[in-house]
Amino acid sequence: METAPIPNQPRWARRFILAFVFIAPCLAFYLVRTNLFLALAPIFLSHVLLLYPTLVANCQWFGPVMRSFETDKPEVWLTIDDGPSPAHTVAMLDLLDRFNARATFFVIGRRAEQYPHLVTEILSRGHEIANHTYSHPSGTFWFASPRRIGLEIDLCAELLRGGPDRPPRFFRAPVGLKNLFVDPELERRSLALVGWTVRGLDTVQRDPEQVARRILRDTKPGAILVLHEGHRAAKNPEFNPRCLELTLSGLAENGYRCVIPQPGQLRPRAA
Ligand SMILES: [Zn+2]
Repeated sequence: METAPIPNQPRWARRFILAFVFIAPCLAFYLVRTNLFLALAPIFLSHVLLLYPTLVANCQWFGPVMRSFETDKPEVWLTIDDGPSPAHTVAMLDLLDRFNARATFFVIGRRAEQYPHLVTEILSRGHEIANHTYSHPSGTFWFASPRRIGLEIDLCAELLRGGPDRPPRFFRAPVGLKNLFVDPELERRSLALVGWTVRGLDTVQRDPEQVARRILRDTKPGAILVLHEGHRAAKNPEFNPRCLELTLSGLAENGYRCVIPQPGQLRPRAA
């Protein structure tokens, strides 16, 4: 099995931000004697420097977020988040088979625990599974402590160990939000943080045609694409598979193949 490592990225921006956050109160203390408003400036700036890379998905300031992969062929990496789902996973796997496509499923640990047979099914049909936290705390992950981040990653990883030769290599943060503690926790576990080149916005969009159109419009060789499963399973169970079907047929029409890149191919720049 290939073990090309994730390319190491410099983390100077993160170091600068951390240094500034420590220096800012001293600067404010020094400036307060001359002008109160001027003294507030470094405090304000330090908050911006902490919040911007946390809340802007794919921002690289706290560490590398993979947004594409190196290839000179018409290939893309299709990623499917939030499963496994009894309503969708098998239907999605059938579609992938039909189009001879491979995908990575970023699964939620708690759902993998509930439906272990679906995780086995994903792997046995030649796809990959990756870590999308244990409980998918989309509202709170962005301010989680290092301990909680580690727990979310480890509990999910424990459930996904498909075999000693296939530990998950990739992690995606819930809704793409990650704070300054996420990068060190991932680095310690040799996991790459994966963002995206283009997402279909299928969790908010109502029309599968529009989801697929949005993806196909911005698809380039080496692009990372995001779709979801397990959403609107009761009200509109056809929605997620239909988004996938339209995307796969559009990609095939445009001559793209869906492949799973090796960690060594991943790049933080957009495709
Ligand atoms: Zn998600």
